[in-house]
Amino acid sequence: MKDVVAGIDIGGTNTVFGLVEKTGSIIAEDRLMTTDYPEINNYVSALVAAINRLIETKSGIKLAGIGIGAPNANYHRGTIELAPNLAWKGIVPIAEYIRKEIDVPIAITNDAKAAAMGEMIFGGAKEMKNFIVFTLGTGLGSGIVINGRVLYGHTGFAGELGHTIIVPGGRDCGCGRQGCFETYGSASGLVRTVLNLLSEMKEESTLRDIPPSQLTSKKIADAAAKNDPVALEAMDYTAEMLAFGIANAVGFSSPEAVFLFGGLAQAGEVLFGPVREYVDQMVMPIFKGTVKILPSGIPESNAAVLGAAALAWNELK
Ligand SMILES: [Zn+2]
Repeated sequence: MKDVVAGIDIGGTNTVFGLVEKTGSIIAEDRLMTTDYPEINNYVSALVAAINRLIETKSGIKLAGIGIGAPNANYHRGTIELAPNLAWKGIVPIAEYIRKEIDVPIAITNDAKAAAMGEMIFGGAKEMKNFIVFTLGTGLGSGIVINGRVLYGHTGFAGELGHTIIVPGGRDCGCGRQGCFETYGSASGLVRTVLNLLSEMKEESTLRDIPPSQLTSKKIADAAAKNDPVALEAMDYTAEMLAFGIANAVGFSSPEAVFLFGGLAQAGEVLFGPVREYVDQMVMPIFKGTVKILPSGIPESNAAVLGAAALAWNELK
């Protein structure tokens, strides 16, 4: 019998899960709609049944553990706590609920920490002991690895670098405060920057033809690749703000590398180039030239399942 783990990524809309070997190969995968199950008990039953179905499709395998990535997940307690984008309110002891039906070790954390674990076990950080993964999507998450271990902190919620304030009194943030790193450095931060620049700049731009609600980081990156002046200015400003956040983080934990992952990171060199330059300008002299700024070593489409699976494999070590 070959051991596999189940990697589960719980999102506000979809739950994606797969069976993953120790090498990182996904041997079976499926999904269900999170929104179909407003009652947590029904959700757990459906999820467990779906995982069991996946296991039955394969012969010669044994489920050794389960890893879960979920919003506001608390590694210490095995809970999902006060997640704004999920229907389950309050503190949900999801690891305990699943363990009642499948008796294997279960670990849970948020998606950014799972991404860091994925990078360490299966991705570009296999040989690294100190690195940070920033997930640049609608929000800005971070997973911090120090001395080969993901940082959870006293509460289990350590690593909220997206909500460190980089502009006092700056943009309104979903957390109820102002000027958070996330409001500038995420994919949605880039869109906000473009909307500001379109009213400030006189230059022609193809971005003026796109309704504001349909602007995405992808469209902005595409425009920047064609030398659109507004898109280039927005990329440069976003790179500078990302570098602020990264330089602060470098002072905190001196990572060997910073991995940028998620929608905005797909922009590629038009973003990475200026981020590298700004980071080198902004870090303290002792850190100059010490930090690599890298794209994730894990394909975007598999990252959520592999990150959650890596969490499970790490527990089994
Ligand atoms: Zn915030």
